[in-house]
Amino acid sequence: MAVGAETARGLHMTKRHRVVIVGAGFGGLSVVKSLKGAPVDIVVIDQRNHHLFQPLLYQVATASLAPSEIAWPIRSMLRNRRDVTTMLATVIGIDTAGKGVLLADGSQISYDTLVLATGARHGYFGHDEWEAFAPGLKTIEDATAIRGQILAAFEEAELETDPVRQRALLTFAIVGAGPTGVELAGTIADLARDTLPRDFRTIDTRGARVLLVEAGPEVLNGYPEELSTYARHALQKLGVEISLGAPVTHIGEGAITFGERRVEAKTIIWAAGVRASPAAEWLDVASDRNGRIVVEPDLTVPGFPAVFALGDTVAIGAPDGSMVPGIAPAAKQEGAFVGEAIRRRLAGEARHTPFRYRHQGSLAQIGKRKAIADFGWIRLRGATAWWLWGLAHIYFLVGVRARLGVVLNWLWIYTRNERAARLITRPAGETELD
Ligand SMILES: Cc1cc2nc3c(=O)[nH]c(=O)nc-3n(C[C@H](O)[C@H](O)[C@H](O)COP(=O)(O)OP(=O)(O)OC[C@H]3O[C@@H](n4cnc5c(N)ncnc54)[C@H](O)[C@@H]3O)c2cc1C
Repeated sequence: MAVGAETARGLHMTKRHRVVIVGAGFGGLSVVKSLKGAPVDIVVIDQRNHHLFQPLLYQVATASLAPSEIAWPIRSMLRNRRDVTTMLATVIGIDTAGKGVLLADGSQISYDTLVLATGARHGYFGHDEWEAFAPGLKTIEDATAIRGQILAAFEEAELETDPVRQRALLTFAIVGAGPTGVELAGTIADLARDTLPRDFRTIDTRGARVLLVEAGPEVLNGYPEELSTYARHALQKLGVEISLGAPVTHIGEGAITFGERRVEAKTIIWAAGVRASPAAEWLDVASDRNGRIVVEPDLTVPGFPAVFALGDTVAIGAPDGSMVPGIAPAAKQEGAFVGEAIRRRLAGEARHTPFRYRHQGSLAQIGKRKAIADFGWIRLRGATAWWLWGLAHIYFLVGVRARLGVVLNWLWIYTRNERAARLITRPAGETELD
């Protein structure tokens, strides 16, 4: 058992090796799963009480799904694991000398082995001032705020008499044409074209302008060319306007500038860059330009053999020479690897095997009826890929209730164009866009 100062309450002290896992995202929970039956006590610390299925977060932001369909209380997910203690707390630092995790409330949790799986947030390429005007999508709060912003824009446009201002209200700009940007653009276009028209009397929501702004030469950079081209054409068919090769140079109140163009848009959403959690700063170790810890091949932090780090908060190479991507399967594989490595250490095995990433494939949805899928050996697009995309996402949701809820919602969207979660959740009187 760790001997560092233990000042947090609610922890059972045993003589077993204590593994503290910070972050109950895909990576952290995968470590917990992999350590099942190991001779350890596990403490899971997360600043939120829920595990979030981020791949469907854009569906909450676009009123397709409710938050509770893609997020689950960590405590209940781990209720059957008597070896696990769950703590709702924010980590603010690590005392590596004393082997303790420092919490925001001033308390400290000691560890024998520490796993940092604290993920990432949006990064604004040195322009943090843009965040106020172009929020990113990472948490349930982000998603419900963006949902409120999108729906309120239509509401305000309905009451607006000035055509210029009405145009700005009905312009939705999305920065970054990676999977999240593409999925957001396609779904906002669907919302405007199929779901909303019958509900408004003054405006024709089908005339809403959805703009996807990408600095690179193509949408879905990194996908095979044929799939990227297909995605671009499919988005254009949905009415999405795509700007390629012109980086954003300015974002301010209600306006975005890219290349030589300035467009008035009341809603601007950031889906471009990510920045790792401050785990590298906590440990004072080297990080890459996105703030990710440059870990050893066995996912330990250089200089700290008792500390593992994984998922979106680390940079590590893949066998083909590229970097392991910041996606859920990578975090899960790393988590399983770390759990196994801890077991082997406790069994007295000194060998340090390197982590080897296996890419299982990439999927992205385009509007409500199409998707693309790349598994290396096979590439799919259109409706077939959409079914595969749907099945894969349903499979990875937690519990029967969430699966049924999501299937029902998708059925309603698919057949009736109805989106159940069309709620602006702000205090009454604050529905105007500021
Ligand atoms: C909008 C969006 C869409 C995505 N779509 C896909 C997709 O389609 N397919 C795919 O494979 N991947 C997708 N991803 C990426 C995928 O979600 C991440 O790669 C994955 O979540 C990384 O797992 P992780 O465990 O490293 O971090 P996370 O899952 O982000 O978990 C980190 C956890 O750490 C906690 N935490 C952070 N800081 C602290 C702290 N200081 N104290 C305590 N707790 C803390 C957080 O609350 C969180 O629960 C998407 C991501 C986003 C944001």
